[in-house]
Amino acid sequence: MSSVPVAVVTGSNKGIGFAIVQALCKQFPGDVYLTARDPGRGQEAVAKLQKEGLHAFFHQLDIDDLQSIRTLRDFLKEKYGGLNVLINNAGIAFKVHDTAPFAVQAEVTMKTNFFGTRNVCTELLPLVKPYGKVVNVSSMVSSSALKGCSKELQQKFRSDTITEDELVELMTKFVEDTKKSVHEKEGWPNTAYGVSKIGVTVLSRIQARMLNEKRKGDHILLNACCPGWVRTDMAGPKAPKSPEEGAETPVYLALLPSDAGGPHGQFVSDKTVQTW
Ligand code: NAP
Repeated sequence: MSSVPVAVVTGSNKGIGFAIVQALCKQFPGDVYLTARDPGRGQEAVAKLQKEGLHAFFHQLDIDDLQSIRTLRDFLKEKYGGLNVLINNAGIAFKVHDTAPFAVQAEVTMKTNFFGTRNVCTELLPLVKPYGKVVNVSSMVSSSALKGCSKELQQKFRSDTITEDELVELMTKFVEDTKKSVHEKEGWPNTAYGVSKIGVTVLSRIQARMLNEKRKGDHILLNACCPGWVRTDMAGPKAPKSPEEGAETPVYLALLPSDAGGPHGQFVSDKTVQTW
């Protein structure tokens, strides 16, 4: 078994994930795994880094596929006995002009952004080693979507006692409410991406709390963040930040020094803790 530190970035064949891997290859003292759901796109990205003189390893990972997540989990357990840095970056967003019915957009977006990210956490968090770092890439849109929720929902999402099961119930209810076209009446904002990212931010707050309760002595720091508005296939060419600039906050959180007491359980943007 290798004792070399290891970092894993989900959805890193392009965009912000690729820039995160690029930065970690330069700054992380260990093995960096670029993962992609499509092995062809993943290997191509590794080859692109190689041309820049950077070395990343590749492993297949589709966060929508539990078997794929478990294969990566078993590989990390066997080769490294766990992992040191996990960056949950993979995500999707329908384009504004997409004509797919809102209920379909809600179900598909929630499946990857919330349930896929949660499944990766369920399988990989127990493997994170002491002093490890976990970064869940959310979005400022989670904050604006939160403000668009009913008072009752806002209270639930800001609660310091909400459980993971209760959050899963709420995310499932949103999708069901869109199918019945009652989501606005039920207090939800009209954004599937925004609600899925509320899920990612709140999940991070819950997971950090669980780490405090169950693994206090392990000093693991877990946060959600926003990369900013970044020029990628998702956000388009008009966004102000380059992918490298978008990678800055996730990489900062992934490389917090081992004596850092925080941030932990926070929502961070521009390397600054935001009020939730
Ligand atoms: P992007 O260029 O579209 O890249 C998304 C990455 O996620 C791609 O590698 C994609 O793989 C991967 N992915 C999607 N579904 C996946 C799945 N089921 N399993 C594994 N990988 C999957 O988007 P981006 O702008 O870099 O976004 C990265 C993260 O930042 C996302 O979580 C996004 O919500 C968040 N974010 C972005 C912005 C922005 O302005 N760009 C702002 C706030 C937050 P394929 O190539 O196979 O599709």
